[in-house]
Amino acid sequence: YDDRDGWIWFDGELKPWREANVHILTHAMHYASAVFEGQRGYNGKIFKMEEHNQRLIDSANILGFDLPWSREEIDAACIDVMEKSGLNDCYQRPIAWRGSEQMGVAAQKTKPHLAIAVWEWGAYFGEDAIRKGLRMNIAKWRRPAPYTAPTNAKATGLYMICTMAKHAAADAGYGDALMLDWRGQVAESTGANIFFLKDGKLHTPTPDCFLDGITRRTVMGIARENGIEVVERAIWPEELEGFEQCFLTGTAAEVTPVSEIGPWRFEVGELSLGLRKQYLDMANGRLSNK
Ligand code: PMP
Repeated sequence: YDDRDGWIWFDGELKPWREANVHILTHAMHYASAVFEGQRGYNGKIFKMEEHNQRLIDSANILGFDLPWSREEIDAACIDVMEKSGLNDCYQRPIAWRGSEQMGVAAQKTKPHLAIAVWEWGAYFGEDAIRKGLRMNIAKWRRPAPYTAPTNAKATGLYMICTMAKHAAADAGYGDALMLDWRGQVAESTGANIFFLKDGKLHTPTPDCFLDGITRRTVMGIARENGIEVVERAIWPEELEGFEQCFLTGTAAEVTPVSEIGPWRFEVGELSLGLRKQYLDMANGRLSNK
């Protein structure tokens, strides 16, 4: 991803893509003192931008650092880099991190930095997954407890186990992995939230040790507008047997139907595909944005 043309917003200025570099002693690289966002532009407008950038600031605060830019300034920077890149439909990656002024676990003397990159990113799991449903296995890594890690921050360190789980899934021929939480309850995939359908109701795990995704909340709103009851509760893997449909939600994943988790099978059904369509309509400004 580093060798290409383009512009990256970097600490207040637009830098050529290849020159947007950090020093090897960057604290974030050694101790995972970094937080990030993922947001998408649809038709030249960044969907839920304010919510994403507020979560970025909140995530940094949870890790103990303040960004020297306001939410409004970060919003303006996101729009600026998207316009400069000439991409109307794109993925945006804001990332904030601690710099290279200090080595060791302590980081009070480090400077906070912020960069925003934009690129084209189509269906995260590929077009095939949307038609046939995503095939998932169950990860051996579990989401940590909220007293073990700052699970409500979108912090880079939390993704180490996601990458390992994703690679293990790929090596076994699957598109992604379901991660359980430390209690053994169903949590989420390696980069998206999860929903199940049974008897006309949607069921989704309570987000008490993983991100309460912005897409998750948006899709819950759409479902409720459609008169579909949405239940947030503890879900145990044994229950997967009885669910009819399953889908993932996330900025990159959008709404992706799931056909398989380990030994369990799900229909790529009308409800999942309908919610996907309504979500994309809303993101593209074809449906009111509630
Ligand atoms: N869980 C994880 C682990 C994620 O990386 C993401 C993507 N940010 C989500 C859930 C979904 O969050 P959102 O809908 O806000 O993109």
